[in-house]
Amino acid sequence: MTTRISHWIDGRLHEGGSGRSAPVYNPATGEVTAEVDLASVEELDAAVQTAVVAAREWRHTSLSRRAAVLFAFRELLHQRTPELAAIITAEHGKVLSDAAGEIARGLENVEFATGVPNLLKGGFSEQAATGVDVYNIRQPLGVVAGITPFNFPAMVPLWMCANAIACGNAFILKPSEKDPSAALFLAQLWKEAGLPDGVFTVVHGDKVAVDAILDHPAVAAVSFVGSTPIARYIYERGTANGKRVQALGGAKNHALVLPDADIEMAADAVVSAAYGSAGERCMALSVAVAVGDVAQPLVDAIAARLPKLTVGAGTDPDSDMGPLITAEHRDKVAGYVDAGESAGAAVVVDGRTGDHPEQGFFLGTTLLDHVTPEMTVYTDEIFGPVLSVVRVDTYEAGLDLINSNQYANGTAIFTRDGGAARQFQYDVEVGMVGINVPIPVPVAYYSFGGWKDSLFGDTHMYGPEGINFYTRGKVVTQRWPDPATSSVDLGFPRTR
Ligand code: NAD
Repeated sequence: MTTRISHWIDGRLHEGGSGRSAPVYNPATGEVTAEVDLASVEELDAAVQTAVVAAREWRHTSLSRRAAVLFAFRELLHQRTPELAAIITAEHGKVLSDAAGEIARGLENVEFATGVPNLLKGGFSEQAATGVDVYNIRQPLGVVAGITPFNFPAMVPLWMCANAIACGNAFILKPSEKDPSAALFLAQLWKEAGLPDGVFTVVHGDKVAVDAILDHPAVAAVSFVGSTPIARYIYERGTANGKRVQALGGAKNHALVLPDADIEMAADAVVSAAYGSAGERCMALSVAVAVGDVAQPLVDAIAARLPKLTVGAGTDPDSDMGPLITAEHRDKVAGYVDAGESAGAAVVVDGRTGDHPEQGFFLGTTLLDHVTPEMTVYTDEIFGPVLSVVRVDTYEAGLDLINSNQYANGTAIFTRDGGAARQFQYDVEVGMVGINVPIPVPVAYYSFGGWKDSLFGDTHMYGPEGINFYTRGKVVTQRWPDPATSSVDLGFPRTR
């Protein structure tokens, strides 16, 4: 019998009544393990109404009390990481160490948010004019929503909800319907941590629920992470309805490898960044741009490493890479390899025929060389274990290639030359840059976000920009009557 995965509204599980549901798979076996309820417009509205009531109360909660809840949540999340990692692996497929890694990166955001008493401090200008002071305060928005992708079912919600709740908002999460259980585990931990009912809500669903969020007048802001076409749609519909929207989209992350790079270091880094989590990371490296003579030794070094990667169930401690999320996605990724080969790319390592389990949605690692910019393996986000090598003659040609791409999430340069690295950091038109670091996801006290088609809106996710996103500013200009002029004798000198 399959499990039913329900909504979490007002601090408890809430069975859906829409009559619609979607299957949830274990990608390592290909079996359906659960059915997740898909919310109707009316159900979303009911969830928002409870969140509205909860938000009214929660904003009055003192900063120290909010911080105490966050500290408790942090402890629970830390202690119960193995349980949550197992839930993630069962529905997403990534290996357990990757699942624990995403929780650790999510935890950073909770730790950042525990500093809310400091983060919400405003500025004060005494005597801006004679007898006049000016100061600013930041206040919560009310009800805010997060719509998240399948590939980080714990980390991406934590990017959003920790800061949103710390700032005094009620948060509604609409997780991916492909791996929805991690969201419910987070909901239970929030409750155990002492968060009042209704401040954290989970509504499962598809486009119906998403559109209802985007159209609901009581939802003040929407944070989205997912693919570029949907990010653009979320941004346009949400802002047309007067909401604040930050919508992070897809990616095509390049690594520029200069001729002086440490080849062994670069190959290790590129392999882990291209194939970790089966390439289903928005910061995965998808293209290695090899400059000049470095190309052949780099391709050889990467190719030599790939047979050592074990593809298998995420629960097996010997596996380095798990399955893809669905059978359709696996076939789509394999189709890109077919298309690359037909277009003239050299298939150096072929994941279509690799040594991987028959059952489940597995695909091996693929390395394509001599990829050119018009091939679909180059133009499209593949989101699978496929690395393309593009050979260029100069740094300038590599830089032009990266800057011409529609996506601009992350990039990395591999070199021993500090001046070259600095020039690249200055020249490149991308939101996050790694220098000999393949996946430059910023720590939680900076903010995360790409440029161009990798982000719609002007606010990056989490960190200081997250605090700004989930609050609105108010500036107070105050003047008090001179106490010396009071009709009541306050004991002030009359002649001041
Ligand atoms: P997706 O865009 O298919 O889904 C994301 C969310 O949008 C889900 O909650 C889904 O239910 C909802 N959704 C899907 N189709 C919709 C529609 N037509 N209308 C309204 N809502 C819809 O993305 P995904 O496949 O879950 O995740 C992978 C994508 O996310 C990749 O493109 C990846 O690069 C991107 N991603 C980006 C970042 C980033 O930080 N920029 C981080 C993680 C993932």
